Amino acid sequence: MSGEFDLIRQFFTRPAASVDIAVGDDCAILTPTAGTSLAVSKDLLLEERHFFSDVDPESLGHKSLAVNLSDLAAMGATPRGCLLGIALPRYDADWLAAFSRGFNRLADKYQCPLIGGDTTRSEHDIVISVTVLGEVTQPFLLRSRAQPGDDIWVSGTLGAADWALSLLLRQKAGEILNEREIQTLQATRHALEWPEPRVALGLALRPLAHAVIDLSDGLVQDLKHILHASGVAAVLYESLMPVNLSLPDDDPQQLRQSVLGGGDVYELCFTAPQTARAALQAIAASLPVTLTRIGEVHVGQGLRVLDAAQQDISALPAGFDHFRPARRRKP
Ligand code: ADP
Ligand code: MG
Repeated sequence: MSGEFDLIRQFFTRPAASVDIAVGDDCAILTPTAGTSLAVSKDLLLEERHFFSDVDPESLGHKSLAVNLSDLAAMGATPRGCLLGIALPRYDADWLAAFSRGFNRLADKYQCPLIGGDTTRSEHDIVISVTVLGEVTQPFLLRSRAQPGDDIWVSGTLGAADWALSLLLRQKAGEILNEREIQTLQATRHALEWPEPRVALGLALRPLAHAVIDLSDGLVQDLKHILHASGVAAVLYESLMPVNLSLPDDDPQQLRQSVLGGGDVYELCFTAPQTARAALQAIAASLPVTLTRIGEVHVGQGLRVLDAAQQDISALPAGFDHFRPARRRKP
């Protein structure tokens, strides 16, 4: 069994009771829940740009969908379904079985069935393109709704994925990591390869948050998108950052880079009025997820980050940008 249609049937065809027509016809058909609008997003993952060629295919399947569900989470959307475009240089049943296992497990968890896609052979590289469909109701959770006086919050912890990536890149370049670095890699790698989309948090934030974004390119860069879209300024406090506890603290520059600039986090950063503090703490306790207040929104423009001595950090770490000369490439 190795043809295109066998492949689709074996790995990517699953029951999807929540849609009218899923994989198998020319289009999928689904009926939106009355009173909702569709939220749609796509992320592309390229071999050796977004993931290493030898990455565990099960984690790649998981992450391909997770990064898309994270976008739905940032809009407070309820997942409805997803589409998978995949180009593969060869038919590899073991690879496909593991990839689809990781993908489908997450799809089941968030009731986001795979309802269609496209499968093709590529010359060299693996290319994965996932589209997610979700449902939202008014008022939408937009980047443009931050208000002066809002608190700025972030979920989870920061820095682990970036730290793991930098250690993996050194390893791939032939460097031998020391015992401590190997331990740190073991402790941080999960964050890079198995991000958990904050879907439940996004939904819970709907009545409370003013503006929400998911952190794919780094806290500083992604928060700036909120500030620009909302026409406001912000101050963050480095000492308040929820630094991942696995990270060593003997290299403050690298720590700052990973925490403020590191990408691939998939936590939610959001602004909310001070009156929402108690309700947000209750959400944090009930989900459970840690929520940390890291700064506040002001009138004006621009982002300041103050260090532990309340001094401005003058050169803020840059986040990831595919068309900027890269410090290094994204996984
Ligand atoms: P078409 O020729 O109309 O593009 P295809 O032969 O590519 O249709 O696909 C047949 C069916 O399989 C369609 O329902 C399509 O959505 C689905 N499909 C193809 N590839 C995938 C995939 N990777 N994941 C999920 N569904 C897929
Ligand atoms: Mg097709």
